[in-house]
Amino acid sequence: MELIYEKSVPGRKGVKLPASDVPTAKPLDPALRRNKAAELPEISELDAVRHFTNLSRRNFSVDTNFYPLGSCTMKYNAKVLENAAALFAPFHPATAILPGGEAFCQGSLGMLHDLGSLLAEITGMDEVTTQPLAGAHGEMTGILLVAAYHAAKGNKAKKRYVVVPDSSHGTNPASAAIAGYEIITIPTAPYGDMDLELFKAAMNDEVAAVMMTCPNTLGLFNPHIKEIADIAHSFDALMYYDGANLNAIMGKVKPGDVGFDVIHVNLHKTFGTPHGGGGPGSGPVGVKKSLIPFLPTPRIVKEGNGRFSIETARELSIGRTANFFGNFGVMAKAYAYIIMLGKAGLIQVSEQAVLNANYIKERLKKYYDLPYDMTCMHECVFSASKQAENGVHAIDIAKFLIDKGYHPPTVYFPLIVKEAIMIEPTETESKATMDAFIEVMIEAAQQAETDPGSFAAMPLTMPVTRLDETKAAREQNVCCAG
Ligand SMILES: *Cc1c(COP(=O)(O)O)cnc(C)c1O
Repeated sequence: MELIYEKSVPGRKGVKLPASDVPTAKPLDPALRRNKAAELPEISELDAVRHFTNLSRRNFSVDTNFYPLGSCTMKYNAKVLENAAALFAPFHPATAILPGGEAFCQGSLGMLHDLGSLLAEITGMDEVTTQPLAGAHGEMTGILLVAAYHAAKGNKAKKRYVVVPDSSHGTNPASAAIAGYEIITIPTAPYGDMDLELFKAAMNDEVAAVMMTCPNTLGLFNPHIKEIADIAHSFDALMYYDGANLNAIMGKVKPGDVGFDVIHVNLHKTFGTPHGGGGPGSGPVGVKKSLIPFLPTPRIVKEGNGRFSIETARELSIGRTANFFGNFGVMAKAYAYIIMLGKAGLIQVSEQAVLNANYIKERLKKYYDLPYDMTCMHECVFSASKQAENGVHAIDIAKFLIDKGYHPPTVYFPLIVKEAIMIEPTETESKATMDAFIEVMIEAAQQAETDPGSFAAMPLTMPVTRLDETKAAREQNVCCAG
């Protein structure tokens, strides 16, 4: 496809502005004026519209096709949620933090406050901060809260370690390391969860926190979670819950009820905003009572008269972790999503998401190796190890799917599964869509046996075909392809 610069014709214009009839207040300092025209494409409005519309048609999205990207919960998010967020568009986010500004935004403050209460109810926590801007940012905030808790007890120097299972998302050990902790990694047992005996052996008084994802990145719910929490607490270690997989358990299990002290949730996975769109995210953090004094400020406080005010400082607070109260639009969508579905709706979301993943798992396990063959939660993890014997790897299956109009599942994650193919259908897909996808996955498995050589050049239908990925990362020349 031509670049917009290649469509440029000297002198062609999209817009003609009338000559200014307002006197120039102060001429611009000549030193600041450019002496050469900006190198912008000269193009008509229609050409610009066509250029960008046609580019957008090459995008892949949930609005166009099935997007089973494991760990990302790429569900369909209803357009009405965007309308809900747009209702707040005229409102400037700084209003609330200007002196006396609260009076002008009681509705917005109330919505954020209510969203915090709803998330606390869903997760079994006592209070929530909406500040963090992503899942990983929520993790960092949560671990800083853990650090502040230990520091307040005079244990800052003693508490040196954070325990994570080897199935964890890479952001978990990274967040703990950024907060200054050393990492103890516990291997996964053949039953698909953190090895309980190795965990017990690793625990000691110097552990500050245990970070878990439940269900974990294999899509498996850990039946020993309460026991693990009790052991951690006996060493005064706090339990951190990575809530990115909340879509599997909403209305079924509250992490706060099974021993977790701090949790982040990904609003941009579970609650109305897609993950991975490059757009804003939101990773609110919920805590149990013991951590409330350390929450980031400012906080929204509900007064006895029902009005909302802003508490700017708290003695033990870890301070501000983001501007304002976080990404407001994402939270408006999450709020609308939760009240639109209600409790019964959220439970149905989890049940349907789990049912869909198990359906795909059962139908594909004849064709792909299933390293942990048990009931899964909202996603299932296969391995392309059988196909790899013929030289067809997980990445080749992914490229095959692109040619068939599907976004590939997550591949090569979790790291503990060789040739991993991680499929998360989400609750919003119909049986017909999943059946069509399953047929294509079966076709890929068959072709891997009959014609393994055919995969090397895939994808064949895209503007950019198979790249040398190492070279592409080093020489980022986006102009030459296609
Ligand atoms: C997505 C994800 C994260 C990180 O969330 P971001 O918003 O991408 O920073 C952390 N843990 C798990 C298990 C995830 O799936």
